[in-house]
Amino acid sequence: MSKGDNVPANRRHTRPRRRYSPAEAVADRLRDRILSGEVPNGAMLPKLEDLTEEFRVSKASLREACRILETEGLLSVLRGNVGGALVHVPQPAHAAYTVGLVLQAREVKVGDVAAAVERFEPICAELCAAREDRVTAVLPELVAAQRELAGCIDRGDGEGAALAARAWHEALVARCGNETTVVLLGALEAVWTSHIRTKQVEYTKLGVAISPELSRRVFAEHEEIQARIEAGDVVGAAAAARAHLQTAHIHPPLEGEDTRVVRASTVRDRVFG
Ligand SMILES: [Zn+2]
Repeated sequence: MSKGDNVPANRRHTRPRRRYSPAEAVADRLRDRILSGEVPNGAMLPKLEDLTEEFRVSKASLREACRILETEGLLSVLRGNVGGALVHVPQPAHAAYTVGLVLQAREVKVGDVAAAVERFEPICAELCAAREDRVTAVLPELVAAQRELAGCIDRGDGEGAALAARAWHEALVARCGNETTVVLLGALEAVWTSHIRTKQVEYTKLGVAISPELSRRVFAEHEEIQARIEAGDVVGAAAAARAHLQTAHIHPPLEGEDTRVVRASTVRDRVFG
């Protein structure tokens, strides 16, 4: 139950709006600067003295504003002699980690994430095929992932092949051209890929080899989807992607559905590691 649930429905809209503190007002303005790119990723915020003068607030309020932005992951406040505040422009990786936290709290299984990706990815194939600039904006990244996959198959590197295949799927999402999909589905792809990676390490330790036949089939099906994207065949690309995701199911093949609960730390190690 959220806090708002305790308030009778007919009184909710009559509650006075909480007033913003000076620190929150400064945090709002600094946040806009960071998100607009006015202060680039990896740059330092101006000095504390300069900001207190500009915003006409106390040092205490400014420090509080920085703490707010730090908890949002937009700043790292460096303590000590050097001091200052390092700016982090939010990336899709941050969304992946946040999604991982929520999924873990809800005890969502990795197989559940995989099922969602299977549903949504054909839409990305469709979007890729519909792009006017698909030959330059989509295909090079897919072709590069396929080249990596082929190299791994030739070398008999099953683990490398599984990860190259995942890279192909991540590229399909990343190049679909719809930014909202790139961020949201990209986050799910990152959650899934990070868990496959840890499974791979377990497989390798156990000496379980990935079947070269499966890797070759995956390669061939990717080629088929790519050809339809290149031809601008929107319906065909989505159908081929759907068939591939259902039949190949997962690279690497796992024994049935993955019933591990999503771990946010596994996602973090992959996306920030
Ligand atoms: Zn695939």
